[in-house]
Amino acid sequence: MSMTVIPQADPGAGYRAQQAEIDAAVARALGSGWYILGREGEAFEQEFAAWLGTTRAVGCANGTDALALILRGMGIGEGSTVATVSHTAVATVAAIEMSGAVPLLLDIDPDTYTMDPDELTAVLEDPPPGLPPIRAAIAVHIYGQACELDPMLAACQAAGVALIEDCAQCHGATLGGRKLGTLGRASAFSLYPTKNLGALGDGGVLATDDFELADRIGAIRQYGWKERYVSSMVGVNSRLDEVQAAILRVKLTALDWGNERRRWIADAYDAALAGGPFAPPARRADAEHVFHQYVIRTGAWGMTRADVQARLRQDGVGTGIHYPVPVHLQSAYAGRVPLGPAGCAETARAALEVLSLPMYPELTDEQVGQICWALRNLAG
Ligand SMILES: *Cc1c(COP(=O)(O)O)cnc(C)c1O
Repeated sequence: MSMTVIPQADPGAGYRAQQAEIDAAVARALGSGWYILGREGEAFEQEFAAWLGTTRAVGCANGTDALALILRGMGIGEGSTVATVSHTAVATVAAIEMSGAVPLLLDIDPDTYTMDPDELTAVLEDPPPGLPPIRAAIAVHIYGQACELDPMLAACQAAGVALIEDCAQCHGATLGGRKLGTLGRASAFSLYPTKNLGALGDGGVLATDDFELADRIGAIRQYGWKERYVSSMVGVNSRLDEVQAAILRVKLTALDWGNERRRWIADAYDAALAGGPFAPPARRADAEHVFHQYVIRTGAWGMTRADVQARLRQDGVGTGIHYPVPVHLQSAYAGRVPLGPAGCAETARAALEVLSLPMYPELTDEQVGQICWALRNLAG
């Protein structure tokens, strides 16, 4: 019997779910005769800021640029170090290097996969020798769950260092009832098609309550212009186009529902895994997870990750790995990028065992049932 495999991600399903509205929004944008930084982009920025709860949002070309623009806007570049994690999309580290700063990669807590706040406190109190001063820390709310942010914020404040949130995977998640992306000095969101809020192409947006910073970044994203054709500062070109902005305005209306649905699917997976070889992902008690990814840790009951992947595939379930090689072990970075005192040992272990199950709101109840059956079958 051949079974169609449920894909681990399916960005087309998000389009089809709102196709009529999205098609109408695209037609409106195309018909307007204005394609870059116009009314759709402005409306999206306002609607996104209102949804998030910040005073300002600034659209840009992608999530990597959103991080790099924040650093540039804060004057962080050459002669600065920025602390973050190695267990992240390479984009986080690429953005730091784009700004000219040196990335310092810290280890994670093995249960939640987020930055170890004690190691951050340690490097802020006692910086590793030979590095430029640490000017910022980027907290990555990986897989859709908050970092242990309060001690990180406290350590940053004590050291006079800015905390920036990488919210590429956590649109809508909360910590202590507060929305992620409103807790640091500024936050960066990717709008890549598979993210919880995804464009149908590239896109990014950054958010802050700091008007001056938002204005500066608004200029930097377009050649440093405050006035057309006149650069008052050195800038780049990183703009969100009108077609993507129009699409995102539609997609934003389904985001909260989509996050609810992701949590419902996660609850079903949790129940199916209970009593089996693999524990459900840890959930912080004081936080609302939005399950950008639902990640299990393999390596139990004598099954390798490849074994688990093969057995799930046989039962019609596609899987993914986020991420197979930590940034500090990739050839572009290995031996060159400095690590914290823990040497990213937990990060390296996690990379060998993490496995992501299918997770998107458009999974049907029937597909969720099939995946749960396959998960129970792992115990048999
Ligand atoms: C996706 C992602 C980014 C980068 O976003 P792009 O839009 O692809 O540039 C940055 N950080 C994290 C954690 C991500 O998951």
